[in-house]
Amino acid sequence: MNQAKDRLKSLGKTIDHVIETSPHSREILDAFRPVILERHRLMENLEWEPVDTTVINRKKLNKGIPLIKQVELLRRGDPWKEVALALIPAFKQGFTDLQGDLDALQDCIVSGALDFYEYFKASSVDADRIPERMYEKANVRPAASRLFLRTLTWVILHRRRRDMAFSIEEADWHQGTCPVCGSFPSISVITEKNAQRWLHCFQCGQDWRFSRVICPCCSHEGQQGMTFFFVEDKKQECVFICEQCNRYLLSLNQVRDIQEIDLDISALGLAHLDILMRNKGYVSMVPAEWYPS
Ligand SMILES: [Zn+2]
Ligand SMILES: [Zn+2]
Repeated sequence: MNQAKDRLKSLGKTIDHVIETSPHSREILDAFRPVILERHRLMENLEWEPVDTTVINRKKLNKGIPLIKQVELLRRGDPWKEVALALIPAFKQGFTDLQGDLDALQDCIVSGALDFYEYFKASSVDADRIPERMYEKANVRPAASRLFLRTLTWVILHRRRRDMAFSIEEADWHQGTCPVCGSFPSISVITEKNAQRWLHCFQCGQDWRFSRVICPCCSHEGQQGMTFFFVEDKKQECVFICEQCNRYLLSLNQVRDIQEIDLDISALGLAHLDILMRNKGYVSMVPAEWYPS
C-alpha cells in the first residue's frame, strides 16, 4: 500500500518537474494531474481473475500477431463501471469545460445505459462510431467521450499488460504497432547509450524496440522521406516525420534510462510540438491525449 502511495507521490513530482522544465505545459499538465493520479491509483487497486496465458502462442507473436488477437484482454467481467465512476470526479477537477458532458456520462454509467464492454468488443470495426452514438443517446460531445474512453481503456489495459508482461519477454517483435494491444505508438525514445529507438504505447504502457530507419506507421524504410524536426535549444525534444504517410511521432532524444521517465507525462509536456505539427498539416499516429479530436 505504501508502495502505491510512494508511486503516486513520485508521479506528482514528475509532473512538477516537467512543468518546471517546460513551463508552457503547465495548463495541460495541471488539467491532467488528477486524471493521471487517479488512473494509476485505480490500476494498482484492480482485482480480477487472472487471464489464462497458456493460450499465448510464441510463434504467432513472432509473426506479428499481438496478444490482444490471441487472448481476450478486455473482458466483460472487468470492473468497467467502478473504474468509470471513479474517473468522473478526477476529470471534473481538471476539465471544468466538460462538466455537462461528464454529468451526462455519469448518468449513463449509473443507469447502465452505457455498456462499455460492448464498446470495446466492437473494437476496430465499430469503435470509432461509438462516441457519435453516445452523443445521440446522451448528448455527450464526441471529444469528451473519446477522451474518457481512452482513459478507461488505459486503466484496464495497463494492469492487464503488467500482469502478463512475462508472456512476451524476449519476443521477436518487429512491428510498428504494440505487441500487447496492437496500437500505434504515442511517443518514441532514443537512448543515449546505444542510440536504440524505443516506441511507447499510451493505451497499455508497453515499450518495444524498433528500427530508427523505418516508419512505425507505414513501414516505409530508408532515410529518404523521413526527417527529425528539432527544437532550438532543446536537444532532447524532437519529432519524427514520415512524408510517405504524412504522420508524425513525438520523440525524446538522448534518454539515459527509459525506466526512469513517465512517457505519458513526457508526451503531454511536448504538447506544443503536437500543435506545431498539426499546423504544418501532419497527422499524429494516435489521437493526442490532450487534444481529444
Ligand atoms: Zn499497447
Ligand atoms: Zn510513414
